[in-house]
Amino acid sequence: MIDLRSDTMTRPTAAMRAAMAAAEVGDEQLREDPTVNELQRRAAELVGQEAALFLPTATMANQIALRVLGHRGGEVVAEERTHVLVYEAGGAAANAGLVTRGLPGVAGRLTVAQLEEAVAAADPPLQPVELVVLEQTHRSSGGRVWPLEELEAVARGAHELGLRVHLDGARLLNASVAAAVPAAAYGGVADTVTLCFSKGLGCPLGAVLAGAADLIERAWVEKFRFGGAMRQAGIVAAAALYALDHHVERLAEDHARARRLAEGLAEAGLPVDPEATETNFIAIRLEELGLHEGEALRRLEAAGVLLTGLRPGWLRAVTCLDVEDEHVERAVELVPQALGALARA
Ligand SMILES: *Cc1c(COP(=O)(O)O)cnc(C)c1O
Repeated sequence: MIDLRSDTMTRPTAAMRAAMAAAEVGDEQLREDPTVNELQRRAAELVGQEAALFLPTATMANQIALRVLGHRGGEVVAEERTHVLVYEAGGAAANAGLVTRGLPGVAGRLTVAQLEEAVAAADPPLQPVELVVLEQTHRSSGGRVWPLEELEAVARGAHELGLRVHLDGARLLNASVAAAVPAAAYGGVADTVTLCFSKGLGCPLGAVLAGAADLIERAWVEKFRFGGAMRQAGIVAAAALYALDHHVERLAEDHARARRLAEGLAEAGLPVDPEATETNFIAIRLEELGLHEGEALRRLEAAGVLLTGLRPGWLRAVTCLDVEDEHVERAVELVPQALGALARA
């Protein structure tokens, strides 16, 4: 079976496990775990922020950011298929008491004019727009990259409107490697930044929330409220440090394989745009195939390839550490056959 469902499928390599086994540890809640402390220092610097907090997941990092940046009854604005709005179990409302407003975006990106309209439409004393969440890369548009100037302009516009900015950079390093822009340049525009280690970076779990030192002090308290004293967490932080040393540059290989797969599928007649394949996601539109998502996924599985949904009407294939050239070559054969594209081309 060729598994192209998600870059969360990566399993820790033998070398990563060895780094974990050798980790120096202490009590993280007392800030005495040297490996966690080192990861927090390096991650903050990497994303252009003062401080960082190690957390089990990027979802928790996002949720803590909402608690730190917003207030009960305020509004959070984001592109309508942003992870925070659609994949976090209503956490913005349940955990932070925030009203959510999703805005249509192009390739996952919003404009300053849209933020101005959202602020103008709100009722400031009763329901003020307090923050905007930007996602880099943007998952549901197919791993698309915000160009730096555009991200800077939207963050600046948000700040001028009095909003705080959270950057969900679960895959920030994919953007950084694909665009050859330092992660700190993207991360530095925001008040808080999420970075995830359990996707393309190949760790079993782990994420950080980074920001100014005072915000991250508040994040420590919120982490405790979420039940998150992680004690000898250096065992896991060691995997993240290993990934920062060994799994960042190699993301370029995932991107090259994704591009190869997108080109192969497009050549076979599938509705795939190689130009839109900027990182490790390939987006396949179902409409032209006349198939519903469930039927398409069943046919693919029967042919020996696992894909998953990207957003309504679209499938995704994702490359990562565990996907090799031979898997891509076989997928280029099998996916068009399974989806009936050869007969149509
Ligand atoms: C996967 C993902 C998350 C959540 O990451 P977990 O570590 O699995 O909780 C957050 N934001 C985006 C954009 C993601 O793709």
